[in-house]
Amino acid sequence: MLIESAKLVALVTKIFVELKVNHSDAREVAEHLVLANLKGHDSHGVGMVPTYVSNITRKKCNVNAKGKLILDKGAIMLFDADRGLGQIAGRAATDIAINRVRETGLVCMGIRNCHHLGRIGAYAERCGKEGYLAIHFVNVVGHDPLVAPFGGKESRLGTNPFCCVIPRKDGNDIILDMATSAIAHGKVRVAHMKGNTEVPEGALIDHLGKPTQNPSVMFEEPLGSMLPFGDHKGYGLALICELLAGGLAGKWTAAQKSQEEGGFNIINHMLMFVIDPSIFDENESFQTEVENMVEYLYSATPTQENSNVMLPGEPEINTLSSREIRGIPINENSWEALKQAAKDCGISDNEIQELLA
Ligand code: NAD
Repeated sequence: MLIESAKLVALVTKIFVELKVNHSDAREVAEHLVLANLKGHDSHGVGMVPTYVSNITRKKCNVNAKGKLILDKGAIMLFDADRGLGQIAGRAATDIAINRVRETGLVCMGIRNCHHLGRIGAYAERCGKEGYLAIHFVNVVGHDPLVAPFGGKESRLGTNPFCCVIPRKDGNDIILDMATSAIAHGKVRVAHMKGNTEVPEGALIDHLGKPTQNPSVMFEEPLGSMLPFGDHKGYGLALICELLAGGLAGKWTAAQKSQEEGGFNIINHMLMFVIDPSIFDENESFQTEVENMVEYLYSATPTQENSNVMLPGEPEINTLSSREIRGIPINENSWEALKQAAKDCGISDNEIQELLA
């Protein structure tokens, strides 16, 4: 089925409001999730709502936490989200970093103890819009690790996203925003929810360490593992994310299994660098080189007919244009799970129908 984004925002906002999230934060989190759907990342869209509802209900996410700077040394800062909603803490810390970079030219901001930050590109986009470069390293804890190290059978890492934005004058910023696992865990969940859908080769192993395309190995015992992208290289980058975000900013890596008591949670830590490129570049030669490079990339002959070379971030822009018009596709299982989450929060069938009318 296809659903208009505004209706999804209304429903998801109502769900969070029922969970005692203030209206403005509820709407901001709903808009973040729906924008992930609009940009084609259903893995990080409204399909996460049942997990958020469960985490908030079990008091794993502290919806009233304000979060605060706990270290401020000019260009180096650390923000503790106190397990608040990641979208709110992530945006607040990003805005502090953006304000500071105007003075310092470079900021290193650590963000610790966030409930799920969602799509990391959202924070990069905010920096890009202001004309700044940003680089983000993220780790994921609060539940068992999901990704096996290169050469290993058992999971030892999270899906540890890496993200980088290069701003462009026309606003079509280059944004590389990716899980360091071969595919995002949410994409395995979406395939599992669809039923009878395989994930691409090279993304999963079963509990014996054998390659498989069956997404159920991540949800049904005996559990398998996800694989890093690009063999040893993706594994290496995942480890760097683990240590910079979890070790340096968060003081909590996947190695500390015992820290989360009372069941599943999703906690993100992030280390981000924000850079003002104009510091290097009084004559704007950087922007000229970016555009020269973009043109050069586009001049490559496509390997397939009816396709073309794209920049990182471009598939998201294309999907956004099409989903804004056609609506957001949601499979039946995910839709039922979202409606159930709404009902669990005390929203009746009639109210759901009214919000979607
Ligand atoms: P993906 O594989 O769909 O895309 C990764 C990157 O590749 C994107 O920047 C995209 O623009 C680019 N890309 C895709 N196709 C391209 C092409 N043909 N040419 C050029 N560039 C191309 O993304 P993913 O790894 O599945 O990650 C999905 C989302 O999940 C991201 O937003 C990420 O931040 C998020 N995530 C969050 C967490 C968390 O704990 N908060 C964990 C993992 C992932």
